[in-house]
Amino acid sequence: MNSPQRSRKEISVSVIVPVFNEESVLPEFHKRLTSILNTVHESSEIIYVNDGSTDNSTTVINDFKKTSTKVLLINLSRNFGKEAAMCAGLLKSNGKAVILIDADLQDPPELIPLMLSKWKSGFDIINMQRSIRHGESWFKKFSSSMFYKILNKLSDYHIPADVGDFRLLSRRVVNELNQLSEKNVYMKGLLVWPGFEQVTLQFERDKRWCGESKWPLLKLVGLAVDGITSFSTKPLQLATYLGGTLAFTSFLYGVWIILKTMFFGEAVTGFPTIMVAMIALGGFQLLSIGLIGSYVGRIYNEVKNRPRFIIKDEVVFEETKSSVARVEFPVKQVNR
Ligand code: UDP
Ligand code: MG
Repeated sequence: MNSPQRSRKEISVSVIVPVFNEESVLPEFHKRLTSILNTVHESSEIIYVNDGSTDNSTTVINDFKKTSTKVLLINLSRNFGKEAAMCAGLLKSNGKAVILIDADLQDPPELIPLMLSKWKSGFDIINMQRSIRHGESWFKKFSSSMFYKILNKLSDYHIPADVGDFRLLSRRVVNELNQLSEKNVYMKGLLVWPGFEQVTLQFERDKRWCGESKWPLLKLVGLAVDGITSFSTKPLQLATYLGGTLAFTSFLYGVWIILKTMFFGEAVTGFPTIMVAMIALGGFQLLSIGLIGSYVGRIYNEVKNRPRFIIKDEVVFEETKSSVARVEFPVKQVNR
C-alpha cells in the first residue's frame, strides 16, 4: 500500500501528534499507532510536532526510522503550547483525513479505523467524546463539566462537552482552519467552528500511560478563560447588566431613605450599609475591568500579529528508503 513513488498528494490519512517531553511513552505509542495504521487500507503519514521538548523525545522519534509509515518530525523552536503545535501539524498535513491524537496513549490509536469508517460514510468532523475518564481527579472532571456548561451558555454555537482534541477532520475542514489568522487559538472551539457534517462518538479515556499531565491547574484556568473570551463577547455585557441592576436598586433605596427621613427622621446610622454598598460596587467594577482587560489583551495579541509558532526544522523519514531522507530548513516563520 505504500509505494516508494508515493507522492504527497496520495496520502489519505495524516495523524498529528503534539509532543512535549514524552520520551518514555513515545516508543509504545509509535508501536501501537503504526500497527493499527498497517491494518487500514489508506496510505498514511504520522506528523510528530515536537513542541520544544527538553528531554530525549527528538532522539526517540529519530529512531523510528524503520517504519511502515511515512513519518514527519517538525521541531518547533521552543515550547509554544499544544494548541500551536497542533496548528503547525495541520498546516503541514497532506492527508484527506487528518487525525489529532495525544502522545500519552490517553486517546487509544485503536479507534482510528472506526473514525476512518465514519469519515468514509460522509462525515467531515468526527468528535471523540470521553464517556469515562480514567485516572483523572473528581475535581478535574467536575470543573471541566462546569466549564463546558458555562461555555455553551455563552457561546453562539454548540461546542460539544468532554470532547478533547482527539478528532478526525476532513481536508476541507483543515483547509478552512489553515486559513484562519487568529493567534490566540482555542482549538476545542475552533475545530467545530467551520461547521460541516459532524458526528460525536463516545470512548473511554485511558489514564496516561506514564509521565504527568502538562496542564497544571493554573494553565487550565487560563485555557478556560481563553475558551470563553475567544468564543463569546457576552461577559463584556455583564458589566452593563450589573451596573443597570445596581443603579435601579440604589434608586429604589434612595427613595426609601428620603421617605424614611421625612417621616421618622434619621440619626447617624447606616455605616454598615455604606460599607457593604462600597465594597460591592468596588468588587463589580474591578470584575468588569478585569473582563474588559482580558478582551483588550486578546486584541493586543492579535494586533501584534506574531506567528503562532516558529518551525526550527523538519525531518522526513520514508520507510522505503534505506537511509533517512533528512530535509532541513533554516529557521522559518509561519505567519499563521
Ligand atoms: N503537549 C504539547 N505541548 C504542551 C503541553 C502538552 O505538545 O505545552 C502535548 C503532550 O505531549 C501530549 C498532549 O499535548 O501529547 C496532551 O498533553 P497532556 O497529556 O499533558 O494533557 P492532558 O491529557 O492532561 O489534558
Ligand atoms: Mg494526557
